[in-house]
Parts: sequence; C-alpha cells; structure tokens
Amino acid sequence: MKVSLNGESMKEFNPLTKRWKKGNKRVAIVYPSHYVSGIANIGLQQMYAEINSMEGYVCERFYWDVFECKRSVETAAPLKDFDIAFFSIQYEEDYFKIPKIIENFRGIKVAGGPCVMENPLPLAGFFDYFYFGEADGDVCEIIRACEEGYETECLKKTENVGQEKVRVRKASLNTHLQTQIVGSGAYGECYLLEVGRGCRRACSFCIVRQIYSPCRWRDVKLLLEIAEHAKKFVKKIALVAPSATDHPKSKELIASLIEMGFLVSPSSIRADTVDDELIQLLREGGLESLTIAPEAGSERMRKLLKKGISEDDVLNAARLASEHGIEKIKLYFMIGLPGEREEDVKAIVELAERVKKFVPRTSVSVNPLVPKPHTPLQWAPFSGVKDVKAGMTLLNKKIRFLRKELGRRRISGGIKSSEDFAVQTVLSRGGREVGEALAADIFRVRNYSGYLDGIDTEERLLWDFIDHGYRKGKLVKEYENLMNLIE
Ligand code: SF4
Repeated sequence: MKVSLNGESMKEFNPLTKRWKKGNKRVAIVYPSHYVSGIANIGLQQMYAEINSMEGYVCERFYWDVFECKRSVETAAPLKDFDIAFFSIQYEEDYFKIPKIIENFRGIKVAGGPCVMENPLPLAGFFDYFYFGEADGDVCEIIRACEEGYETECLKKTENVGQEKVRVRKASLNTHLQTQIVGSGAYGECYLLEVGRGCRRACSFCIVRQIYSPCRWRDVKLLLEIAEHAKKFVKKIALVAPSATDHPKSKELIASLIEMGFLVSPSSIRADTVDDELIQLLREGGLESLTIAPEAGSERMRKLLKKGISEDDVLNAARLASEHGIEKIKLYFMIGLPGEREEDVKAIVELAERVKKFVPRTSVSVNPLVPKPHTPLQWAPFSGVKDVKAGMTLLNKKIRFLRKELGRRRISGGIKSSEDFAVQTVLSRGGREVGEALAADIFRVRNYSGYLDGIDTEERLLWDFIDHGYRKGKLVKEYENLMNLIE
C-alpha cells in the first residue's frame, strides 16, 4: 500500500487492514502528529489490531501529515463518516490541531495517551470521553461502553472529569503484538519489540517514571518469538522502551537478534549503560550515531535532575563511540532549571566541546524545562525563576548565549524558542478555560501566565484526581530535598 505524506509517496505493509462491509461500524484511530512517530507507536498498532479483530468493526488510521487527519490512510475515507474516533494525544503542541480535526465529526470522540494521563482538563471541551491508562486488552470494553453510554474504571465522561479520583490502568506485558504494520517510521522500516514499560530511574523532571510506573520488562523468550515471526517481513528490529538498554538482559537480547540476522536499533541509550561490549553489539546491529541525554552541563544541575549520569559516563560513551567508528553524537540538555547559574549554562558548552574532541560531528539540542504534572519538579516555576517575566528574559539571554557559543565552536545546535515551551507548560498545567480559548482560537500564553508560576506544595493541584499509584507526600519531600540542594 502507498501512503501519501505531504505529497510524498511512501510504502507501507499492512497485514492488519480490514475491508468495510455494509452494516460494519467504523472506528478511527487519530494521531494528530507525524506519521513517522505514529507508525512507530506499538500501543496504537495494538489498538488497531484489537479493533480489526472485532466482528462488525473496521478500524482505519489518521495522521496529521496524511490529509491533516481528515481522511484515512487505508482508503482515504473521510473522518466524518466514522462512528467512533480514538485520539492519541502525545504532545501539547498538538492541542491546536484538534478543533480543526473534529470540526465536522459527529461521532463519539475519545482521547487517551500521555497528555490525558498527565492533565486532560484543557482538552475536556473537545471530547466525550477520556481514557486513563494503557488500553491494550481493554479496547472491546471501551467501544462497548462508548456505544452504550456508560463509564468504566478508566473511561470517564469528560463533563465529570476532575471531581472524583481515577485510577490509571496498567496493562500486562505477558503477550506482545505479533502481526504488525511496517512503514517508514522513526526507526526506519522495522518490527517493533516493546521490551518494557515505565522506568526504574528517578529523574526529577520525567513524566514517564510517574505515569507508566511500575517499571515492567518483557521476557526475552517472548521477544525472540516475535522476532522469529518478523524474519519473514523485515531486516530490522527497533527495541522500544523509555530506557531500552536498562532491560536486565538487553545485551543477551541484542546479541540473539544479531545472530538471527537483524539490524537492531534501541529507541534510547543511557550513557551509563554504554560499555565496550554494548557498543560493539550495537555497531554490529547497525548503529551509526549515538544520542545521549546528559540533560545538564554541570554536576550540580545533574544532581537536581537526578539523572544519575556523570560527566565521566558521557565522556566514556563518547570515547567508546569514537573507538568503534561512530561518527555522530547528539546531546540533549535542558535549561531554565531552578537555581541555575551562569556557570551551569556555560558548562553545557564545555561538555559539548569535550565530547566533540572524541566525535567531531557532535550536535546539541537544548530545551527549556517544562515542569510537568506528577513529577517532583511540578511545583517549580517555568524558567526556574520566581518572577516568571524576569525568568523569561533570562531564559532568552541564555538561549542567545548558547547559540553564539556553540556556533563559535562549530557545534550545531537545535535550540527552540522559550515561548514554545511556555505554551507547553500552560497546556500541561492548565484548566478547562485554556481549552475554551483554544476552541475559540483566542489562546495567548500571556493571558494564562499564572500557570507558569511556581506552585505552593500545599495547594490542591488540578491533576490530583489522577491516581498513578504514587503518594503525593513523597513527591513533596522529593521536591523539598531538591530545592535544598540548590540553595
Ligand atoms: S528520563 Fe529516561 S532514564 Fe530518566 S526516568 Fe525518564 S525514562 Fe527513565
């Protein structure tokens, strides 16, 4: 099958597709972002497979860069002809597209995904239901509930959401999707092996450790069975997990996959898991560039972020990469952290410079911190400074400094504007009125700047009703300990 992405034609192999017959109900999976990331999302493929296995139901997919989510990939059927639409909301910036996508849609609209699990209130006006949690294995029940108009433990009508506690659903990882769609996704043309969910680390800015907890790993035997099946279709396997090389048997798994003749691409690699053996394996598996997220340049800021990666870990990974012929490294950093000083920002340039000595093609991506709901840093002000207006000015100064200094050292840098991240912060911490402004196309971040301020730890938070299984008191303690670190 051919997929038209912004006018460019791409191939897709879809053994899960189903032909619509008279009397069948149509269910849409809507991904209001890029096809490459949507097709690499195993959760959505799982949902698609579950719906198409239901008698009397046909599922088709919609992506933003394929007809702006107005027509399906499979048959170019208009979204307005579908009975139910499941939206997967992964990024706050996609909120702006939703009013346009649902304009003529009269069916039942359900939203799920990380943004819903974090704080769905700004999205409430656009949808009939929110789904809280991991939907695999629950899709038939969700469809039945939507059609009959009732709620379940994790499927809630949007009009009531925010009052009562909702316990987020966790799925079992005892099985794995065997038959998959293969398209040109974020990891290339490959099969997806979801090695685990959640993360055992405790980075203080990270939503994954909170909303996908507890950390769960799939059995290597099960993963290799799926890979055996994949042999008929692809030459490459992507290992998917928030921190894939943390899998207790990651090396054994990668070695077995290589032995089976696959190229292997892990979705993420932590610098402190990199050693000679792992890099050697990944090289054999086709790895050509390394992406590392030290997150901060100085030890002091890395302690605040609890990343657990030292400068030695980063330099060791760069040295090993260079020794094994890897020619490109990308480093991810954050700025606008509480207590951040000039020397902490300079340390980003210095660390990148040290890495560049090992791997000349070093590039850097720097993003301002978005203090996300449910993380220990959720109470921090955007920009890291109490007076947010002054903080924004300071943040822009830091961005100008980094662009100049990295440029002088010929280190390419992707440093986005602070405004984009202020918008993300408002959308992730905002209430229903923010969504109303989006719907009326009158959203301006300056009108909601209160959501950029620091939050008192005593205050009731808009997203406190979502129960991810952690104790809030413990999170407050963690935040207070972090703040003591930077005083
Ligand atoms: S940032 Fe990565 S390593 Fe840290 S908790 Fe999140 S997923 Fe885990």
